[in-house]
Amino acid sequence: MARKTRKEYEGQSALNNIMFNSIGDGAVVTDEYGRITAINQSARKLIGVTDKEAIGAWFPKLIRAYDDLGRPVPLIERPITKAFVSKQVVTARSHYKAKDGTMVPISTTASPIIVNGQPIGSIEIIRDITQEYEIDEMKSNFISLASHQLRTPLSSVKTYSHMLLDGFMGPLTKPQIKALKTIISASNRMNETISTLLNITRIESGSIVVAKKPISISQIIEEVISEHQLAAADKSIVCKAKCPDRSVKVISDSVILKEVLGNLISNAIKYTPPSGTIRVSVSLKNTRTVTIKISDTGMGIPKNSHNDVFSKFFRAENVVKQETSGIGLGLYMVKGLVKELGGDVWFESKEGQGSDFYVSLPLDNKNASKNKLVRK
Ligand code: ADP
Repeated sequence: MARKTRKEYEGQSALNNIMFNSIGDGAVVTDEYGRITAINQSARKLIGVTDKEAIGAWFPKLIRAYDDLGRPVPLIERPITKAFVSKQVVTARSHYKAKDGTMVPISTTASPIIVNGQPIGSIEIIRDITQEYEIDEMKSNFISLASHQLRTPLSSVKTYSHMLLDGFMGPLTKPQIKALKTIISASNRMNETISTLLNITRIESGSIVVAKKPISISQIIEEVISEHQLAAADKSIVCKAKCPDRSVKVISDSVILKEVLGNLISNAIKYTPPSGTIRVSVSLKNTRTVTIKISDTGMGIPKNSHNDVFSKFFRAENVVKQETSGIGLGLYMVKGLVKELGGDVWFESKEGQGSDFYVSLPLDNKNASKNKLVRK
């Protein structure tokens, strides 16, 4: 192939420059230290900087990122850092503070430039997502409003069904009792769905209220299990708990923690065939963390679904075929709630061999000396 002349190279470089500057989204190129080596017109306009101000500046400092609550995103969480570390393309949403102080929602995609297996720089594509953000917010407000409105009539349905069942309006025939029980169980399911939707909108909007105080881990587990005892008995499933002494306390919000454990136990019951066993146990790894394990002997989660289990609307193939009730929001909510509690949630599972879900939570450090595992 004939060698390019200097003129041809210069012509190509000028053309590349024109193309780079014509990209509609913000594009920023950095070296291996994250220092900006090129910035296109859209990025300069979006951030409100000149070429001179940007070139040579450290990307994470020039373009600071904030989360939904206006807190700075730690460097380790920024797409540029993750892209350098993982050598993969990383996309994330955040906010950027404009010069007039307004927070602009942006989506950033950081791609590492890899040469001989090593990142020698990166390219960041920055997009103003104000419109998508507003639509998202409208959608969340709508779900929140609709859910609140559904709750009131639903509580009347439940109250009157219970009054009828308890004989307040006269004796009932067997088929009437059966029908009422179906109504009550359907309205309970609907209530759970509404509460999941409300929780998700609260998590996503950052408006969830967390009231942490020391709570006995055993007491909470006992309460949640007793609330699910009927559903388990319906399928002849045995629920066993191995709890520490009641004095072992976590620093948590009891309502949120009950929602988390309730969801995991309800899934364990839902995805375990009749006559199975559910075991709840607690372990202390150190003086700071307690881990609750919920094991079942159910259908398990196929390996190819493991990465998606905590995603919104995800349901694994094996359960869709057998269990029609469920919308795939429970674990997405659980993940968000556990994060609010300062803990973590994960699982181990093999298809056909049951599942173990784990929740770790911060212990009540003031009472650390009392936090010994005393088996009952
Ligand atoms: P839903 O139960 O409404 O489908 P979840 O978000 O609670 O939604 O769970 C997501 C998916 O994870 C379920 O559809 C199922 O495929 C899988 N899953 C969750 N818990 C279990 C479990 N204990 N055993 C087997 N599969 C489970």
